[in-house]
Amino acid sequence: MNDKNNRSDSNEPRIDAEDILAGVLEWVGIESPSHDAAAVNRMADRVQHDMGSIGAHVERIPGIDGFGDLLKARTPWGGDGPGILVLSHIDTVHPIGSIDSILPVRREEDRVYGPGIYDMKGGAYIAYYAYRHLVRMGVETPLPITFLYVPEEEVGSPTSREIIEREALGNKYVLVTEPARDGGKIVTSRKGVADFHLTAKGRPAHAGARHEDGRSAIREMAKQILRLEEMTDYERGISFNVGMIEGGTGINVVPAQCTIHVDMRVPDEATQNEMCQRVLGLTAFDEDVELEVTGGMNRPPYKKDEKIASLFEHAKTLAAEIGFELEDVEITGGGSDGNFTAALGVPTLDGLGADGHGAHSDYEHIYYSSLEPRTKLMLRLLQTLT
Ligand SMILES: [Zn+2]
Repeated sequence: MNDKNNRSDSNEPRIDAEDILAGVLEWVGIESPSHDAAAVNRMADRVQHDMGSIGAHVERIPGIDGFGDLLKARTPWGGDGPGILVLSHIDTVHPIGSIDSILPVRREEDRVYGPGIYDMKGGAYIAYYAYRHLVRMGVETPLPITFLYVPEEEVGSPTSREIIEREALGNKYVLVTEPARDGGKIVTSRKGVADFHLTAKGRPAHAGARHEDGRSAIREMAKQILRLEEMTDYERGISFNVGMIEGGTGINVVPAQCTIHVDMRVPDEATQNEMCQRVLGLTAFDEDVELEVTGGMNRPPYKKDEKIASLFEHAKTLAAEIGFELEDVEITGGGSDGNFTAALGVPTLDGLGADGHGAHSDYEHIYYSSLEPRTKLMLRLLQTLT
């Protein structure tokens, strides 16, 4: 136990797991699927109120392209200089009503279930609580802190990316409150993520009377799919997933069109360049079929460079002082907004949120026991980074 935070002085604010959980559950209670701007804005209202009521300077940037608003909250201390950027998202993948049907809030021993509790309302609240603790203690941090609440991370942050990158470049460190992994590990590297769309255009014909005149776009695409999937190379950390397909107009028509959507993950920039070139350079097997390839990187690879490694070592030392061993995951295939900030060379630690399991599923939950140590780690990071 950290004796500084647990003196018997009864008036001193404490970091209390029940208190943290109560706050997390209030945020979880406001359902906020990415594509429902009104719902995400209800969540933004709540965060704006909570941050504002403890003295943060809150700026609300109106949503665009049908997404919710983005919130930026800054400590009243530290001026305009570069400091710490704490990155959270307030959207979830769970549709409205999940909380009343497939994913009700419930506690079963150490597990606490709820929509988005793990990804990432738990983590977003932990950072809020750590900041609130500082305010209640009357303690300022050496660096100013900017909190960013992104409304559409779960769909790739299309409208927030620019703001995230601008804020990252204006700060010295980025702390991302995405969920912890595999028994409390944090994230210091992530694969890059690309989306590609391939469209084959063949020639339609009657499947019975004039079969030989047709050029099947589906047949062409079937070959392309196998070629793409075969580019998966686990040893090199490369994966391809053809996740969606559409094509054809009728069982008795040689299909003139077929489109696929492809997700690619790569571990580093060299591999990214090599594989993007290969995909964008694909040509049709059948010379009578036209193949169009579009798309590219959505999130660049987040690589554990020296600065990230030393930031991790610092966090590890703080965790040991608090009383637990902090590890990082090897490399994760899941992207986050941390990819954007790390790729700009700003030291980024990710996965600082609550530990748990089942992100994006109907059994999504956090481990209650992780709330207190994670909050303390966030607090100590905010207090010690200079
Ligand atoms: Zn997330």
